[in-house]
Amino acid sequence: MKFADLHLHTHFSDGTFSPEELTGHGQRLGFAALALTDHDSVEGCAPMATACNAAGIEFITGTELTAEHNGTELHLLGYFVDTHNEKLLADIARFQAVRQDRIREMVARLNALGVPLEVEMVFALANCKSPGRPHVARALVKAGLCKSLDEAFERYLKKNRPAWVPKARMSALEGVELIHQAGGLAVMAHPGLNRTDDVIPVLVEAGLDGIECFHTKHSTAMSAHYLEIADHYHLLVTGGSDCHGFSKGKPLIGTVKLPYERVEKLKSRAENRGANTGSAATPALDARRSTFGT
Ligand code: AMP
Ligand code: FE
Ligand code: FE
Ligand code: ZN
Repeated sequence: MKFADLHLHTHFSDGTFSPEELTGHGQRLGFAALALTDHDSVEGCAPMATACNAAGIEFITGTELTAEHNGTELHLLGYFVDTHNEKLLADIARFQAVRQDRIREMVARLNALGVPLEVEMVFALANCKSPGRPHVARALVKAGLCKSLDEAFERYLKKNRPAWVPKARMSALEGVELIHQAGGLAVMAHPGLNRTDDVIPVLVEAGLDGIECFHTKHSTAMSAHYLEIADHYHLLVTGGSDCHGFSKGKPLIGTVKLPYERVEKLKSRAENRGANTGSAATPALDARRSTFGT
């Protein structure tokens, strides 16, 4: 059996592994295909593609966009996106600027609470364009201001805790459109975590392609529930570990193994849209090449 993990993070967002380290774990675990889905970033895709190529693993480009619908936060996975797409890159640059401003504001709130964390330390530790709360948590631990990441989230960073700052988010409908215009497939991430069932029909109407049924934090019952929903709306089914590095001494990659047939279904949908999935060029792809001269 061939397996894939289609939800992974590196240090280009809030993961701790480099693309090379992550690929090494994927190779050790025998994965046939991996997708990189850093938050509001596609920067790690090029080095990850190189590493996967050297390891004999099929690589799928991706990103995880933070979005909302009627005040409910949800994450949208974009697969097979063209990582050179100008609009995607311009919008991602805006989301990253919002993330950086939010870090400054969270640190200002911590300082106002008497927690002497320096913003430069958070940015130095994050060392990426797409920083998030995990970087603030790691900086708090590193500076000796919290004992653990859990304590940092529980005391300060979780929703409605004193240093939490809501994140300005794009609308989910725009997110689906942004992924599509970059040649990608739009997939709702971990619906069981964000409790976004009500939004599914709205996004289906907007062209949602798939739903992440298998995720580390989905129970078996949740996965079964979302498989039924996928069936009902004719959505593609994806899955991944959402590995951010080591968790309780082990990397999360390996906890979710998506059968490769699911990847084949994703690829054929993407190829019908004209995306370059690395398989033999399709007529649609050839047409796009001649149109844009690439
Ligand atoms: P942000 O995008 O800045 O809002 O941060 C969200 C990220 O923080 C998620 O992708 C997780 O990686 C992490 N996260 C969220 N809640 C917690 C928590 N309670 N404990 C540890 N990590 C968390
Ligand atoms: Fe994350
Ligand atoms: Fe997510
Ligand atoms: Zn994720």
